[in-house]
Amino acid sequence: MTANEYDAIVVGAGVGGLTVAALLAYEGRKVLLVEKSNRVGGRAKTLHGREILEHGETWYRDMLGQQYCWLAKTTPSFDEIQKGKLLDGYQLDLGYHGVSLNGRGYFYDLDQIIGSGEQAGVKFAGNVNATYIDDEWYLDFHAGKLDPRIAAIVEENESAFLKFYFSAIKMGEDDFRKYEPVSLAHWCRERGIDRQHVLVEMLHAVGTLITTINDPEEISVGDIFRYFGEVINPRFKTGVARFPSGFAIGGIQQWMDSVRDRFIHFGGELLLETALQEILVGDGKVRGVRIRQKNGSIREIQSGTVVSNIPTQETFRYVERSLFPEEYVNRTEKLKSYGSIAPYFGLKNLALPQEQWKLGMKDTFVIPKGERLSHDVYMCWNIQSQSDPLCAPAGKHLLTAYAPVTEDEARNKDLMFWACEQIVEYLERRYPGFKDSIEWALFPVSWRLEGVAKDVNQAGSLKTPVRAPNVDGLFFAGDTVKGYGVAMDCACAAGLICAAEITGKNYGVR
Ligand SMILES: Cc1cc2nc3c(=O)[nH]c(=O)nc-3n(C[C@H](O)[C@H](O)[C@H](O)COP(=O)(O)OP(=O)(O)OC[C@H]3O[C@@H](n4cnc5c(N)ncnc54)[C@H](O)[C@@H]3O)c2cc1C
Repeated sequence: MTANEYDAIVVGAGVGGLTVAALLAYEGRKVLLVEKSNRVGGRAKTLHGREILEHGETWYRDMLGQQYCWLAKTTPSFDEIQKGKLLDGYQLDLGYHGVSLNGRGYFYDLDQIIGSGEQAGVKFAGNVNATYIDDEWYLDFHAGKLDPRIAAIVEENESAFLKFYFSAIKMGEDDFRKYEPVSLAHWCRERGIDRQHVLVEMLHAVGTLITTINDPEEISVGDIFRYFGEVINPRFKTGVARFPSGFAIGGIQQWMDSVRDRFIHFGGELLLETALQEILVGDGKVRGVRIRQKNGSIREIQSGTVVSNIPTQETFRYVERSLFPEEYVNRTEKLKSYGSIAPYFGLKNLALPQEQWKLGMKDTFVIPKGERLSHDVYMCWNIQSQSDPLCAPAGKHLLTAYAPVTEDEARNKDLMFWACEQIVEYLERRYPGFKDSIEWALFPVSWRLEGVAKDVNQAGSLKTPVRAPNVDGLFFAGDTVKGYGVAMDCACAAGLICAAEITGKNYGVR
């Protein structure tokens, strides 16, 4: 066996892989980062409208397909969008990409260590959120302020509503784990909150915002409490965080590129358009990887540490399954993702009331369950161009949204085509004139927005551990392994946990 060429090889330059690779390089290790796509970011990348027009529909569908997404519908046809150059001047994150805590969650922890993100000049625009409950909309609880109508219901009913936001302050690791298998609906029922429709719907909307799951009977309240207890509450209290959500100005790619740049600055090597073929193992130890390079040639590279940022359900395509305990393989392969419809609308004018232009809006009842869906579908939407003027050309507007659906629903073409139409009908009902304001719309659907759904069976510490059993030197990172918080932030948390496991240092999250 030849000597190791790298201290570590990280496969996949999504949030999780970038986080681990940059931290290991920062610690002085010799690191190779291998990514099959032509840019870093994975499911969180930005495409320019112009490059979609130039490369065409097949290229766009392929870019989506590489990241667990497909195009369910376009308005008008893709040909007409291309001929009319309708996407010119737009920047499109790969579907809606709101950043939790406006970049002051786990992203911030990484940025503080390696000098990425805001430290490297990336800017975020924060927003507060609001929720439609029936035909009224209410501001979400934010910075100690309750919408006065919600406050009145809480007071009148002596409701435990605010415990949802604050009880985690006194919780520790044992409590977070105790609540992981408890559903949000169960937690509300036990406290009688379910008897007040407006309050329970508000918590439902916030729970879905954090976990991307439609059904409150499935949402793990423990995962939410951990994020409140360890990140949201302390950071609001100290003024580190000021907004629950936000967008990276110029697209989410800006943050990804800033981490990539720090990685390269620390001496890391990045190979794009290079795909992992096999993780090489001998005598129960990782030996390296076999990759297919951009020019088609196959290469074996030696290293005693390999980190896979590929969603963990796919692990056994790359490494022999018989090396691992059977129960581990079965559980890992069966971990459920949660999908989403993630439409964009290029608008010539705004049919939405001006008070909503800078808010994140949501509603838990956008598509009623009926016969076809497993639960009523929630949606969250922003006029992204009001937060980030760089994402739309002057005088135009970009509305982005996401409407969660289960993994199976997301793969059903007829169902998703119909659901996309229902979204447009909903927006027209809410905002008469909306349909006439549309210049173009794209409807990507992802069957893996959240790599492992934060449900009562598999959230937080119930996810796959970052260290593989039985194979020394094999690790995992990203939103499918142990990590907490909202999707991208969760992938970053898992990267911090994984890097700590490799270096033995403490990066603030366990
Ligand atoms: C449409 C959509 C909307 C979303 N909206 C939000 C949002 O609003 N807010 C939020 O926080 N999160 C959102 N997410 C989720 C977020 O993007 C993910 O949680 C996060 O990016 C996952 O990062 P990761 O590192 O775990 O995985 P990934 O991003 O999946 O990274 C895996 C990487 O591995 C690469 N790879 C795969 N196979 C190979 C191979 N064989 N060889 C080499 N490389 C390989 C992939 O190309 C990819 O770069 C959204 C996701 C989607 C799809």
